[in-house]
Amino acid sequence: MSSIRENLHRVLDRLPDGVRLVAVSKYHPASAISEAYSEGQRLFGESHVQELQVKHDVLPGDIEWHFIGHLQTNKVKYIVPYVAMIDAVDSLRLLREIDRQASRCQRVVDVLLELHIAEEETKYGLSLDDCRALLADGEWRQLTHVRICGLMMMASYVDDAEQIRREMTLASDFFDEVKGRWFADADYFCERSWGMSHDYPIACQCGSTMVRVGTTIFGER
Ligand SMILES: *Cc1c(COP(=O)(O)O)cnc(C)c1O
Repeated sequence: MSSIRENLHRVLDRLPDGVRLVAVSKYHPASAISEAYSEGQRLFGESHVQELQVKHDVLPGDIEWHFIGHLQTNKVKYIVPYVAMIDAVDSLRLLREIDRQASRCQRVVDVLLELHIAEEETKYGLSLDDCRALLADGEWRQLTHVRICGLMMMASYVDDAEQIRREMTLASDFFDEVKGRWFADADYFCERSWGMSHDYPIACQCGSTMVRVGTTIFGER
C-alpha cells in the first residue's frame, strides 16, 4: 500500500499550474492530516461540522479549512469564526446566515455557490436557473460579510468520461456567463471547483481551479 505522502505527491504532480488541491480528509484521523501537512499541504476539506471542530482544535492554526459538505443553517455559527471557505452554498437563506454570523465575528467569509448539474437527484445544489435567479435578485450584494468567489459542482458519479466532460464544460461555460453578468470587475470571483478522486484529471482539462480529492490521497473511508 502506498503512503499518504506518496499519494499526495502523485496528485500534486498531475495538477497543472493554477489548479489548487483541497485534500479531503473527512472520516480520516488528524494523524492522516498531519502527514499531509508535513509535506506542505495546507488546504483541507471537511464535510461534517462536529468533525471539523475537533480537528481544527488539535491541528496547526495555519491550515486553511474548507467546508465542502451540505451545511445546515443552524450549524453555520460553529465554523464561521475560522473557516477559510464554505464551498457548497446552495440557497440565499444559507448565504444570509453566513453573512449574519460572519458579521458577528467581524469576518468576511469566502464562499462558492454550488451548482446542481449532475443527473443524480440526491445531490444538493442550485440549478443554473436558480443560480441566475439568486444573483439577479441582488440581495446578495448587501451581504457584505460574505464574498462569492466562484462556483462549485460535482459531476455525475459515472465511468463515462464524456458525460463528466460535458457536465464540467457546462459548469465552466456557466461560470463565464456569471462572471460576465455579475462579477466582471471582481477579481476574486475566479474559482471553479470541480474534480474529485475519480475525475480530477478531466476537471483539470475543463477549467477547474480547485480540485477536491480525498480517497486517492487518504484511502477508502
Ligand atoms: C467527499 C467529497 C469529495 C472527495 O471525494 P473523493 O472521491 O474521496 O475524492 C469531494 N467533494 C465533496 C463535496 C465531497 O463530499
